Amino acid sequence: MNTTNQNPLSYLHDQLADMEAKGLHFRLRVLEGEQRAAAHFDGKDVINLGSNNYLGLTTHKALRRAAIGAIRTHGVGAGAVRTIAGTMDLHMALEEQIAKFKGTEASVVFQSGFTANAGTVAAILGKDDLILSDELNHASIIDGCRLSRAAIKVFKHKDVADCERLCKETESWTGHKLLITDGVFSMDGDIAPLPALCSLAEKYNCIMMVDDAHASGVLGRNGRGTVDHLGCHGRVHIQVGTLSKAIGAMGGYVCGSRELIDFLYHRARPFLFSTGHPPSVVATCQAAFSLLDSPAGEKLIKKLWSNTKFFQRRLKKFGFSTGSTETPITPIHVGEAAKAFEFSRRLFESGVFAPAVGFPTVPEGKARLRAMVTATHKRADLEHACEIIAEVGRGLSVV
Ligand SMILES: *Cc1c(COP(=O)(O)O)cnc(C)c1O
Repeated sequence: MNTTNQNPLSYLHDQLADMEAKGLHFRLRVLEGEQRAAAHFDGKDVINLGSNNYLGLTTHKALRRAAIGAIRTHGVGAGAVRTIAGTMDLHMALEEQIAKFKGTEASVVFQSGFTANAGTVAAILGKDDLILSDELNHASIIDGCRLSRAAIKVFKHKDVADCERLCKETESWTGHKLLITDGVFSMDGDIAPLPALCSLAEKYNCIMMVDDAHASGVLGRNGRGTVDHLGCHGRVHIQVGTLSKAIGAMGGYVCGSRELIDFLYHRARPFLFSTGHPPSVVATCQAAFSLLDSPAGEKLIKKLWSNTKFFQRRLKKFGFSTGSTETPITPIHVGEAAKAFEFSRRLFESGVFAPAVGFPTVPEGKARLRAMVTATHKRADLEHACEIIAEVGRGLSVV
């Protein structure tokens, strides 16, 4: 008989203590007020390099107005899963708008980019199928692959030759095959070699799927994403995007053929078993896509890119390594995780919020700060942030 009455969760305490000892334990930073380029976290005014709010849409007037309007006309909740009674006219209108924007037959909105990826891969593949996946693909893709129970083969990051090696190895595979990649990689900011991967998919008869979470609203005409940016229209069967980053609200979507979308209505588990978006969020996203396709949206994207070039050039001048980034995602490489976290802590004390990422978000020994530039950062703030990053970085011998 157990008389000590031990807490069966006590091993969590030990693991947390271990993280603490290694300098890897963190507390959540709390934002007071709005998500903006200059913001108030944990009682402190900081230059905010932590958000994915690329275009500053989290606080955009037109989006606020749309959200409030939808609450007036449609209430605050969908009240049911989409497949039972929770599909509103607003949901259908947004999906049509997204499909048109992306130039595909149809689209379906999920509760998040995470569920869009995981739900789609798990729905379309089964245990007899095969997945070819870039080693730096997002966690939601990896989880979707695991959930599908398909065989998973991982190719070296952006390495088309390595991917072709796997294609050849599996040429006689009898099940379905999926080639899947991020469009823009979320921790390094580099862009997938889509045209070459599409050619492989065509040559070896694979379904081609791209997760464009960090490209939508950032790359391509009016932010149409990497497929548009790299001229791959009609070659990608499944395009995933998020409504949580540049779009400024929350959710994810899948674009493709009418049949693909119809199939997902019937088989994607997050779509079937979790309630649809509230009207305010749907209306916010509709307003965001309208804005992207207007001159005001174009102007924001232009500003995003000029701020990005300015910021990355300054950091390089100070001697930092920003790796292989080609987008506003700006890794500042440190190496050791404890040092990256210390770097971030000291920056915060000096008025710059640039989060550190370590294992398991990035491989061990590749810890970094991940600074995100937006269209709404002021030039002077970016300049000031670079100077502080340089000063603190020198103190820690990063440069
Ligand atoms: C952020 C991200 C997602 C998840 O999107 P959410 O809408 O936040 O769930 C999926 N894929 C990639 C590559 C991402 O960076």
